[in-house]
Amino acid sequence: MSYTRFDAVEEAFVRPPVSVEPPAPATSQYYGCCVFDRKNMRKYLSSDTRQKVYESIEQGVTLDREVAEQVAAGMKRWAMDMGATHYTHWFQPLTGGTAEKHDSFASPYGKGESIEEFTGKLLCQQEPDASSFPSGGLRNTFEARGYTAWDPSSPAFVLNDTLCIPTVFVSYTGEALDYKTPLLKSEAAVGKAAADVLKYFGIENDRVFSFLGWEQEYFLVDAALYAMRPDIIMAERTLVGHNSARNQQLEDHYFGCIPGRVLEFMKDLEFECYKLGIPIKTRHNEVAPNQFEIAPVFEQANLAIDHNLELMAIMKTVAERHGFKVILHEKPFAGINGSGKHCNWSIGTESGIGLMSPGKTEEENLRFLAFTANVLKAVYDNNALLKASVMTASNAHRLGANEAPPAIISSFLGTQVTEAFQTLLKSEGMVRIKGKKSYSMGIPQIPELLIDNTDRNRTSPFAFTGNRFEFRAVGSSANCASAITVLNTVVANQLIIFKEAVDKRIAAGAPVMQAVLDETREVYRACQDICFDGNGYSDEWKAEAARRGLDCETSAPLCYDAFVSDRTIKAYVDAGVMSEVELRARAEINWETYSKKIEIEARVLADLVANHILPVATRYQSILLDNVSKMKTIFTNLKEFEQVAAGEIDIIKEIAMHTSEARELAVQMEEECDALDQLECEREKAIGYHDKIVPYLENIREHVDALEMIVDDDMWPLPKYRELLFIR
Ligand code: ADP
Ligand code: MG
Repeated sequence: MSYTRFDAVEEAFVRPPVSVEPPAPATSQYYGCCVFDRKNMRKYLSSDTRQKVYESIEQGVTLDREVAEQVAAGMKRWAMDMGATHYTHWFQPLTGGTAEKHDSFASPYGKGESIEEFTGKLLCQQEPDASSFPSGGLRNTFEARGYTAWDPSSPAFVLNDTLCIPTVFVSYTGEALDYKTPLLKSEAAVGKAAADVLKYFGIENDRVFSFLGWEQEYFLVDAALYAMRPDIIMAERTLVGHNSARNQQLEDHYFGCIPGRVLEFMKDLEFECYKLGIPIKTRHNEVAPNQFEIAPVFEQANLAIDHNLELMAIMKTVAERHGFKVILHEKPFAGINGSGKHCNWSIGTESGIGLMSPGKTEEENLRFLAFTANVLKAVYDNNALLKASVMTASNAHRLGANEAPPAIISSFLGTQVTEAFQTLLKSEGMVRIKGKKSYSMGIPQIPELLIDNTDRNRTSPFAFTGNRFEFRAVGSSANCASAITVLNTVVANQLIIFKEAVDKRIAAGAPVMQAVLDETREVYRACQDICFDGNGYSDEWKAEAARRGLDCETSAPLCYDAFVSDRTIKAYVDAGVMSEVELRARAEINWETYSKKIEIEARVLADLVANHILPVATRYQSILLDNVSKMKTIFTNLKEFEQVAAGEIDIIKEIAMHTSEARELAVQMEEECDALDQLECEREKAIGYHDKIVPYLENIREHVDALEMIVDDDMWPLPKYRELLFIR
């Protein structure tokens, strides 16, 4: 007898928790031990070399060859002391994951001897064969060359036996082939634009950064059950599966007691994170059964994003030690909450001034209102682009599907900030400004905002939460760089426009603060329509948002048009973040990836129907048929027979209906896929997959899920929702 669903269930049920000892009693004793950070640099680099590295990190100064050689030598010694035998340039291709090609330090020489080698050149630059990474037409296969180049602002780390060096990845002709390159450029752009505006407030020489604190949601499924679900293995989500009677309606999972086996996994994961210097702070159960969250303290965006990608990779290996599979897909189970990755974003200065934080004085609050108004204006003008940056085949199940957040980007400000802006709007002509230090804005409400008590609105995709904005539309499997690059870029661009306008007012004779105040008022006036504090799920909001001109598109392929709109191209080119060619390539890759993901789902579902579901359903049907025909021999009176067999006959008919429908639809769906694959244009193909194939996936599922409720539980081959979601 072969291994069945019941064997898997039993295996999952009896699996004991695995406890893993922490590397040291106190976290502080091993925190960052696997990172080539300042602490380790002090041990392995001379003070001269260190100084140069710090300059490079802090001021973006390029390291010369000589210094690179010394850094490489120190890094190699440290990595080998950590047990590393290999090194890799670690980069972020447009597949969404990370890429690494390991090379051994061992370098044979002479007759059968070998030394460990790692040079400055190997540290700074490599040339991986780039032909198999998505490029959106940026690179012809005959010039497949791509270069990875060291990013000293994100420290190298040792993972398992490999020294990982964070790098950017660009084509032979210099176009970005990754997420990190435009992110770094966008950070520089917003840093510069914000620093220029800060000068109005007398703040100079304080560099501005963008900050990110992500909240990673995920599901855990027992490895034995996972192995029995071809759909989860292939498409990372259940393509079929009837809801279990109990799911999240009792609201008993959120913040509930963390199950023992899961807690051991979390502890193990945290040890690994701390070793890599990932500042994990929070762990808890999420809303759906078997759904959890892990979140760190915020960091500079580039580092935070690298840390998130490291986390997503190590989660998978740590989970395996505990007999779990981690699911990062945005909607692995229909009918219950999906997973997001809230991105808490702000800009602030090196000395610690948060530009999204209200202050204590009028001037500080004007600064807060000015920066906030510009963020709102940028989000308003580019709401379609922001949505495009987070829209994927998998995240489309969350966005707009009656679940946080809706597919319309709006911003929640809360009562106090809204009132402050309203007061500002009404204060025209009332504002007296006497000079830099003593002035009155005539808006007494502004001076002290107690934003800590800010109200919450869980339905808003871009909510102000006291000292930052929380962009909630980002998907759990995404590289946050996609969204953060857009935010940084559009805000940088808006701040440049703002500064030009303020300078004009000053040139026309307005005092500086008056000019900032007046321009802030105009900026806010122009973008008020982005603000919405009501219920983002309601149908009234959809109608209202459309009236306000906000982008309401829900089809992912059409959303991607925003990458190549005139507005986007101008914003990106002006901010120096990406060229038109690079933007077009990104749109192309998005369309291509969308089609591929949906096609995989379609092919897996067709296989499930033909090879897993229909054989079982028809086998059960013939058992019933057999029974009915035997009943006929006992109940010879036709009336009597009809009475006792009616129920079973109905079931037989129902099975016949669902199986024939599912079979027919699956065949049609595959034919449609074949036809779409002939299309040359990626945009058209993606639209086809969205409009034609996605409805098939839904229709077929209905028939299969109906069969699941009819067919003998003993025979059903796939682990059910109640098993996938409640065994831990
Ligand atoms: P929530 O109540 O939304 O679940 P969490 O405490 O789980 O909040 O996560 C909030 C995240 O926001 C954390 O990563 C936190 O460090 C981060 N954060 C706090 N302040 C800022 C800020 N000024 N800029 C960016 N992120 C911030
Ligand atoms: Mg949050």
